[in-house]
Amino acid sequence: MSEPASDLRPATITVTAGRPAHEPDAPLNPPITMASTYVATGDLEYGRYGNPTWSAFEEVLGTLEGGRALAFASGMAAATTVLDLVGQGGGVVAPRHSYSGTVMALADLESRERLHGTLVDIADTDAVVAAMRADEDCALLWIESPTNPALEIADIPALAQAAHELGIRVVVDNTFATPLLQQPLALGADIVVHSATKYLAGHSDVQLGALVTADDEVHAALKGRRDLVGAVPGPFETWLALRGLRTLHVRLDRAQANAAELARRLADHPAIEEVRYPGFGAIVAAVLGGGAPAADLLAHDVRLWVHATSLGGVESTLERRRRWKAEAATIPEGLVRMSVGIEDVEDLWADLSRALSSARP
Ligand SMILES: *Cc1c(COP(=O)(O)O)cnc(C)c1O
Repeated sequence: MSEPASDLRPATITVTAGRPAHEPDAPLNPPITMASTYVATGDLEYGRYGNPTWSAFEEVLGTLEGGRALAFASGMAAATTVLDLVGQGGGVVAPRHSYSGTVMALADLESRERLHGTLVDIADTDAVVAAMRADEDCALLWIESPTNPALEIADIPALAQAAHELGIRVVVDNTFATPLLQQPLALGADIVVHSATKYLAGHSDVQLGALVTADDEVHAALKGRRDLVGAVPGPFETWLALRGLRTLHVRLDRAQANAAELARRLADHPAIEEVRYPGFGAIVAAVLGGGAPAADLLAHDVRLWVHATSLGGVESTLERRRRWKAEAATIPEGLVRMSVGIEDVEDLWADLSRALSSARP
């Protein structure tokens, strides 16, 4: 691999890191290494332990986040690997509006008495600190910021400091912000979780996850779990994610500009009761005054926007989140989560405002 200097700016890192050395006839891109095993006595040995295509992806993401990355088969494979590090009977404090899969994973582990979870309002720093203090077995603070889909913002530096004073490890799900908008390790977190399925890969065609840490011991523990549990990504999926990652900064710039503009316009729309947009990123949540029926009508009536779950692709998608049984009951029935893509904003607005006109309360 060529050695990217870490003083390069993020846009340069996304393009240049994780490439083969500049030598005659070397390919510019790391090849897809399809291998379940390697000739013995090297560093890799077997397909579940390592893969050069993973390493290229991990080098780019790790450099962007300021740590060492590990690729996983999905965001949930990465997330549950972090939960695996919590000892038997340990406590986890997590946002009540975490990604629903995270809340389900915690509930599942709790129902089997593996650990116990306390769900908090992650934007209320005092309440989060009180929850950590109240549980003497608390081992992990799970932060997601912005949260999915409520878009609440956590005070990561304050929470990380308070957690560390109590000997509690801190993990941040950075899927919504990406390392271009927020670098949790620099803010005091120990581990970063990504659903690379979303912005990092960015084209709605691959499932992938990742963990990043700057702590060698934590890295070894996480790698050990990956080796044993085997939730490893396919080389082709990882290569696709790396290809997507190369344009993250350009995609995010456009998507963010579109999202900010749509959030402004939606705030003035008579069908909309509340717009949630944290001021950065490309996810907008709009609460429709007409509740679930109006939100379902909107999802049905859009043509350019796609009615679909997931987020972070080049194409704009939306869905009413409470259509999922696992979504928190504190999320309004009429909340529509919009993942704003990189299309022309005028076409997005025309489609949205046309579909919204039938959704007025
Ligand atoms: C999608 C998502 C996940 C889960 O990732 P998968 O790749 O679907 O397993 C975790 N956290 C957040 C914030 C997500 O949006």
